[in-house]
Amino acid sequence: MSKSDVLNTLQNAGLDVLTCMQCGTCSSSCPSGRYTSLNTRRIVRGTCVGRDILHDEDLWMCTTCYTCQERCPREIKIADTILAIRTIAVHEGIMLPAHRKVSQLVLKYGHAVPINDDVKEKREKLKMDPIPGTVHKYPEALADVQTLLRSCEFDKLVA
Ligand code: SF4
Ligand code: SF4
Repeated sequence: MSKSDVLNTLQNAGLDVLTCMQCGTCSSSCPSGRYTSLNTRRIVRGTCVGRDILHDEDLWMCTTCYTCQERCPREIKIADTILAIRTIAVHEGIMLPAHRKVSQLVLKYGHAVPINDDVKEKREKLKMDPIPGTVHKYPEALADVQTLLRSCEFDKLVA
């Protein structure tokens, strides 16, 4: 997808970033930006000017807390835009290796983080069932989970 196609796709989805006045309210409000390289204003700017935003790793540092979106004086749907750009990126085969790996674990085990003995022990200490009521407890449900994931082509996206 070309850079201008990204902007067009966003605009067709009702996500207009071109009214951004680069005030920086978003980045100064961003809790993630205090601990990561994420600069929300820069992401918006890059999208406006057609920078190669799909390969910007900062896209994945957003926690989707929506603080920026609530505070933007231009009412730009910033978090929704970041989510939409991520969706475009994934459909173009672009995602962080760690995310791809976690997604493949979901496909294989029905869990992003499969349970291990340490976690079982901690659950027991908390007087919880050591095995959560998920596919770990009902392994026969794993096939259903996999069918659902394959039916929306999740397996192809994370292959
Ligand atoms: S808060 Fe809104 S107008 Fe200000 S820089 Fe961020 S996106 Fe642009
Ligand atoms: S939604 Fe994302 S970009 Fe916006 S303030 Fe929260 S973490 Fe930062």
